[in-house]
Amino acid sequence: MCRTCGCSEHGVHDHAHAHAHEHEHEHEHEHEHEHEHGHSHADGHTHAHADGHTHAHSHADVHAHDHDHDHADAHAHADTPRHGSVVSFEQALLAKNERLARANRRFYEERGILTLNLMSSPGAGKTTLLERTISRLPGVSTRVIEGDQATERDADRIRAAGAQAVQVNTGAGCHLDAHMVSHATERLDPEPGSLLLIENVGNLVCPALFDLGERARIVIFSVTEGEDKPLKYPHMFRAADVLVLNKIDLLPYVSFDVERSLAYARRLRPELRVFRTSATRGDGRDEWCDFLRSEVGGVS
Ligand code: MG
Repeated sequence: MCRTCGCSEHGVHDHAHAHAHEHEHEHEHEHEHEHEHGHSHADGHTHAHADGHTHAHSHADVHAHDHDHDHADAHAHADTPRHGSVVSFEQALLAKNERLARANRRFYEERGILTLNLMSSPGAGKTTLLERTISRLPGVSTRVIEGDQATERDADRIRAAGAQAVQVNTGAGCHLDAHMVSHATERLDPEPGSLLLIENVGNLVCPALFDLGERARIVIFSVTEGEDKPLKYPHMFRAADVLVLNKIDLLPYVSFDVERSLAYARRLRPELRVFRTSATRGDGRDEWCDFLRSEVGGVS
């Protein structure tokens, strides 16, 4: 996981247009302190930090806010020496994430909000699928959390399609975590009985390890990617509840055996539910939207 890519241990924010702000940390060893650090963001971004926590910002002023953050040890910040093993750091990181994910899940369940975590490699068609989905769910209040390393482009596309969206930029980070999603949810303020779609950062590795508090995990896999992807990225496919096989309009032009690929995926997750779609041409869209509508009805 992040042992290899380092996304959760190192600085993941952009210093290009830094400003100072203050905030408070609550540590598990029960002291609080305030500190300042310079970092940058465009308005409306949630920002990931070196120690795996995030801040939501809606304005550029100096301001104070609280958040909760615990450490693998007292000095696990990226700018201080690490103590202990990398493995124990990761275990603590994932344990913290799981705690926050449980809180997210409780929040969503209490309000009857259907939250889905959409994951794929870059370019599988997540954003296009969401764009084409939103307008086809009349009567379903739909909000979207967009995860990308940089830019507001996908959130802009979602807003243009008619849904409220919050963009989370992870900088060097390659996945969303439960804390980022918690802040983004606060900002989106989804209403009871609504649909909250989380488009994770395009990556088939790390996102599989981070529970966000979602009700279900959707993996989007396009026929241009190679039919053996489930074998190469088993964690992602094993963790998925639903598989959307996208870009099926391109099947005549690529070498991709659909049945063999689905067999690979079902070997990992026998109960996997599968939709075959072309987000651009419209294949499978009705079935996908019917599924979302019935799932929203099922939780609210
Ligand atoms: Mg996208």
